[in-house]
Amino acid sequence: MLSKKTRVCVLRIGHRPERDKRVTTHVALTARAFGASCFVLGDIEDQSVSESLRKVCERWGCGDFKYISGVPSVKFIEEWKSLGGSVIHLTMYGLHVDDVINSIKSSPRDILVVVGASKVPRIFYELADFNVAIGHQPHSEVAALAVFLDRLFGGEELHLIFSDAKYYIEPSVKGKKVVRVG
Ligand code: SAM
Repeated sequence: MLSKKTRVCVLRIGHRPERDKRVTTHVALTARAFGASCFVLGDIEDQSVSESLRKVCERWGCGDFKYISGVPSVKFIEEWKSLGGSVIHLTMYGLHVDDVINSIKSSPRDILVVVGASKVPRIFYELADFNVAIGHQPHSEVAALAVFLDRLFGGEELHLIFSDAKYYIEPSVKGKKVVRVG
């Protein structure tokens, strides 16, 4: 059963610095805002991504959310599995999310969610415990990740508060209300 202790991490594979900086940053921000505990940028470092995330953490908080980069993706997945975690690869070719989300939620294992950028090599389909489609139409890794995490956490993640935030938003009907903590 998915509990507060279940760790959910997001691994971004295939990042191309010359064209994916913005989308990869949005994958990382989505991981943070939608309840994951860490974001892993596989196989490469990108200072632009880490710097954007750092600025968001500085202002809006990140709690225990971790950023890791440059680790070999395949090795990371193999180690994750050897430690008992499960691996969910998001792909439009996989099983429909509606058909697998209950099995995924009922497992107590930590979850690594893998999202691609360019063409995803076959090995990632094979290493995954579940290849999951957020519908069978091509869209975006940001959309796929957001929908998957929302299904996983049942919407609770949208009420997330980071204890180290310097600012928070006071909801308003019109306009923007940003309050400094303390
Ligand atoms: N052309 C690439 C391929 O064939 O592997 C995929 C490119 S797509 C823009 C980037 C990523 O978005 C995919 O690797 C996948 O993680 C995610 N994605 C896009 N549509 C999806 C869908 N319908 N369901 C699940 N994930 C999806």
